[in-house]
Amino acid sequence: MNLTDKVIVITGGGQGLGRAMAVNLANSGAKLALIDLNEEQLQQSVALIEEAGSSARYYLANVTNESDVEQTFSKIAADFGGIDGLINNAGILRDGMFVKAKDGVVGKKMSLEQFQSVIDVNLTGVFLCGREAAVHMIEGGRKGVIINMSSIARGGNMGQTNYAASKAGVVAMTITWARELGRHGIRVGAIAPGVIRTAMTDAMKPEMRERLEKMKPVGRLGEADEIAHTAKYIFENEFFTGRVVEIDGGLCM
Ligand code: NAD
Repeated sequence: MNLTDKVIVITGGGQGLGRAMAVNLANSGAKLALIDLNEEQLQQSVALIEEAGSSARYYLANVTNESDVEQTFSKIAADFGGIDGLINNAGILRDGMFVKAKDGVVGKKMSLEQFQSVIDVNLTGVFLCGREAAVHMIEGGRKGVIINMSSIARGGNMGQTNYAASKAGVVAMTITWARELGRHGIRVGAIAPGVIRTAMTDAMKPEMRERLEKMKPVGRLGEADEIAHTAKYIFENEFFTGRVVEIDGGLCM
């Protein structure tokens, strides 16, 4: 896909990886529709895209809410005249151990609400936005691209029952959609980042960050631009579909 004047929707576009991918794609001539919950952050992302010489609009919406998502994608399609791409990027963490067992006290640790809230955003949100984008792409006769953000945690990770399950589910949806939507000329891929410097990972304990940095052959955390570069590659490479690109500095070799 040549990105010039293509309309790309990014959920969670108000900060972090979503913002970095938006600015990178704007530099290649794409027009951006950014979805998030935080208006101030969205306005800052739009300003950066305009500085890059492209155009963007923002939409306040919760990706877990079906009617919110339906209305937002209809509005985006009407505002821009169609949809060519989607990056399902909005995601949250609510880490915690599954059960507790200390000093003879055994019990449940991760609450159902803690589990469900992560599934709602990271999995149901991806389902709802992906479905809406696919309908608009097919209706508009666009050979679109959908990218879903997974994570290296998809293989299972201590304290991340909820997050790991959601990110493994994202890969299963990616492959299913690649098979189902290929006949409409729509490609679907996933990115599984390692630990990248954003607000999400700034919350990490410093000793944990240091340990992770030492474990990587490249000896540092990743930068948001390095993930943005991968998203651009998936959009542009017409032979890419149904696969997960791992960008983790060698952490999971
Ligand atoms: P971030 O927390 O900096 O940004 C996430 C954005 O999603 C925020 O702007 C937030 O407001 C938005 N969001 C959250 N819930 C939403 C909802 N219900 N509706 C709409 N928007 C919502 O996170 P990030 O580090 O930029 O990560 C982006 C994606 O990449 C996430 O899916 C994350 O799981 C994934 N990821 C990140 C890393 C990392 O190291 N940063 C690693 C692997 C995967």
